[in-house]
Amino acid sequence: MIIARSIAEAREEIGKARAAGRKIGFVPTMGYLHEGHLSLVELSKKQSNYQVMSIFVNKIQFNDKKDYDSYPRELERDFAMARAAGVDLMFTPNDDEMYKNQLTFVDVEHLTDNLCGAHRPGHFRGVYTVVSKLFNIIQPDVSVFGQKDIQQAVTIEKMVEDLNFPVKIVIAQIIREKGGLAMSSRNKHLTPENRERALSIIRGLKAAELLIASGERNGEILINEIEKQIKDGKPDKIDYISLVSYTTLQKVTRLEEKAVLAVAAFFGSTRLIDNMIIDKMGDSFRCVY
Ligand code: AMP
Repeated sequence: MIIARSIAEAREEIGKARAAGRKIGFVPTMGYLHEGHLSLVELSKKQSNYQVMSIFVNKIQFNDKKDYDSYPRELERDFAMARAAGVDLMFTPNDDEMYKNQLTFVDVEHLTDNLCGAHRPGHFRGVYTVVSKLFNIIQPDVSVFGQKDIQQAVTIEKMVEDLNFPVKIVIAQIIREKGGLAMSSRNKHLTPENRERALSIIRGLKAAELLIASGERNGEILINEIEKQIKDGKPDKIDYISLVSYTTLQKVTRLEEKAVLAVAAFFGSTRLIDNMIIDKMGDSFRCVY
């Protein structure tokens, strides 16, 4: 695995791979890798044959300085994991080179009105800006994003369409720990007690799935059930529990088309997000989480 710490080095190496006819797959991350990140590489390998991963804790997407400062970082461990997963090139740029001017930003309107967009001011603008820059630097053929950050994945698809980036976006399923907690770098901050309490999120999503299977289509009833389950886990704060359309990410009151039930809640000072895609199959719905 080649480690490129500058934009010029990354461009040079990827240029060689492209000249040799390789198809470039790209997985952007903020590091402190886990199985979820590695599953993205696996998926990328199915559609490309030169794997690029980036690790960059992107300062401008953090709306909370404490969260940025405490974000787990362990590059040597990450390099070993990425190497074992078959990453060909690891790109770890630095702040000075990535944000020389900080005058140009990318934003996606409307689709960021709800969910994390409403609760983390400036967050998505930081995400779209860094992803655009990374796409320009790496020029991947394929790039994989996780359903775990559903609003990010859906809006990046739109950004790619709107700005004509020549890249195919693939969305990967959520990888979970044994008990069902969605893997996240931030889980490192959970105390054993909060980790146990956080399982109330998956219990909530599963309870909603059961209701949907029994024919429930009323959004408020589904949300209330999830809220009841999560409150049993004594969260420190619930940011949102929302039912939104998959395509517009606007709130819906009834389940009629493909939708997403999404949750953000704090356990201790750790903010966790999770979701379930509710896919329409004829007259019935299938939950993917
Ligand atoms: P992050 O390092 O948290 O910015 O995440 C980098 C990428 O990994 C994003 O596309 C995330 O959606 C994805 N990801 C994070 N957690 C998981 C997970 N548990 N399962 C699958 N993908 C994930």
